[in-house]
Amino acid sequence: DETVLVGEFASQIGVPATQVIMSLMKMGIMANINQHIKYETAEKIAFEFDKLVEPLQKEEEKEDVVIKDDLEEDLLPRPPIVTVMGHVDHGKTSLLDAIRNTKVTAGEAGGITQHIGAYEVYVNNKKVVFLDTPGHEAFTQMRMRGAQVTDIAILVVAADDGIKPQTIEAISHAKAAGVPIIVAINKIDKEAANIERVRQELSDNGLLVEEWGGDIIDVPISAKKNQNIDKLLEMILLVAEMEELKANPNRPAVGTVVESNLDKGRGPVATVIVSNGTLKVGDPVIAGTAYGKIRALINDKGKRVKKAPPSTPVEILGLDEVPMAGDRFIVMQSDKAAKAIVEKRRIKSRDERLEASSKITLEDVFDKM
Ligand code: GDP
Ligand code: MG
Repeated sequence: DETVLVGEFASQIGVPATQVIMSLMKMGIMANINQHIKYETAEKIAFEFDKLVEPLQKEEEKEDVVIKDDLEEDLLPRPPIVTVMGHVDHGKTSLLDAIRNTKVTAGEAGGITQHIGAYEVYVNNKKVVFLDTPGHEAFTQMRMRGAQVTDIAILVVAADDGIKPQTIEAISHAKAAGVPIIVAINKIDKEAANIERVRQELSDNGLLVEEWGGDIIDVPISAKKNQNIDKLLEMILLVAEMEELKANPNRPAVGTVVESNLDKGRGPVATVIVSNGTLKVGDPVIAGTAYGKIRALINDKGKRVKKAPPSTPVEILGLDEVPMAGDRFIVMQSDKAAKAIVEKRRIKSRDERLEASSKITLEDVFDKM
């Protein structure tokens, strides 16, 4: 469990520690500035003060593997990674389907059914990667674990329903992650659709759209009737170009696990997004407390590939256990180095588990007193 020191947290969000402590008291938590509170609690408090907390990075992850920075001259443009967020039933899945269906060419038709939690499409000959895994929870969890996989957030808002609690949550996640938001005002085919009302509600929540003199791009769409999907995609490209996303394809890969499971026949399977470098078959890799040699790479069309350059979503086989969504994967120099790091991590996580269970016993004792 991620925690943060009250004093540090207060200065992080620029609020006097006494006020943070007061808010904690209101929540029934007694803590002084030298005590740790849960990340979730911190996030709630920050929200109260209209502040957002940066994801906390685990100390040990910063330290056990050092990843060298790239030289500016080694960096090349990379495709944007886009996440679709929004309130339930506002049309996230429908939009992802509409994009996939308009952009997957006939030759790839067989690949449509393949699902690895992410896919790539070409818009005006430029690649865009869509993640359809991170619902809100996955997104928050990944951020809490210090992982950021999204470059652009598409916020889907149903024109007949407007801004809802999960819409607001999505806005704050995107803001906390510092990623640009494009609003897709969906279901404009519906009788009750009211685009202006959505824009009003967006502005009430700090997102002023261009039509209203702000800088947030919105695109009224119908995912169901396939209206304006191309326009939305063009806006994604536009925003991506402004972001100047870059990576170095000529280095060992690093990235993030976005999905994982234990497959009966294939063993541990993880969908990863390569954030930098190029991942290759045969690479020795670590991911959380898992390690192994990449046995196979499978792309979003279900085809085996030999390598995966930056921003590619790809399924990897060959790990010895199932990593968690949000785990960073890192290609190591050798099998030996991969094994050594993971063994250390396993001992550490075992110790942490033991510590946690001994704490519970103590509390149990106190309960009985
Ligand atoms: P999600 O929960 O955000 O993934 O929403 P879904 O994509 O599952 O959509 C929820 C419901 O809204 C489904 O019944 C969709 O058919 C419907 N829906 C999605 N987009 C549109 C749209 O553009 N127009 C209309 N009329 N219905 C839509
Ligand atoms: Mg859905």
